Amino acid sequence: MRVMTESTILIVEDDPIVRLVTEKQIAMLGDFKTEAVSTAEAAIARFPDNICLIFMDIGLPGMDGLYATLQIRELEKQNGHKRVPIIALTGHGDRNKCIAAGMDDYLQKPTLLADIKRMLQKHLVVS
Ligand SMILES: [Mg+2]
Repeated sequence: MRVMTESTILIVEDDPIVRLVTEKQIAMLGDFKTEAVSTAEAAIARFPDNICLIFMDIGLPGMDGLYATLQIRELEKQNGHKRVPIIALTGHGDRNKCIAAGMDDYLQKPTLLADIKRMLQKHLVVS
């Protein structure tokens, strides 16, 4: 996959194994920059500096991924920042709840390489 972005894919996931697997899957698909954090609070502190896409777990310690998404959408509005695609990563999440919170898409864990590829193709400018 040829990447047309220099910016970073942010992974928000508290499970270290899922975090590692997701990073490896993204790395297998191309020369993407990734960063991973384990809490929603860390993701919000990191946002929006040079982030092109976010994979967001729903069940997180402290603030959950749905509330984090609402916060990020609010920050985008306040700062006039362009909308960053947020993809839910969840084992048991409700797709409608994710979309209502402002997420763009939804992946069931464990994610397959093809799932991640489809999301990058759909939400990033790649060729
Ligand atoms: Mg979790």
